[in-house]
Amino acid sequence: MPDGESERTVAECLGCGSAYAAQKWPDGTIQPIGTRNGCQCESTEFRVIGGSTPVHREEKST
Ligand SMILES: [Zn+2]
Repeated sequence: MPDGESERTVAECLGCGSAYAAQKWPDGTIQPIGTRNGCQCESTEFRVIGGSTPVHREEKST
């Protein structure tokens, strides 16, 4: 991936859990698309969901 290219992903607000289409930049910045000022709940912290970021899952043995 060329430097400066953003990756389209989906991010979740850490404040209220709302999911947004977002851009992930090479430096790790996550910017929701269309919500330049952050979430509607005024949180500006997001995490990528459903992407390549490792997610801790509870393993259940069935
Ligand atoms: Zn929120």
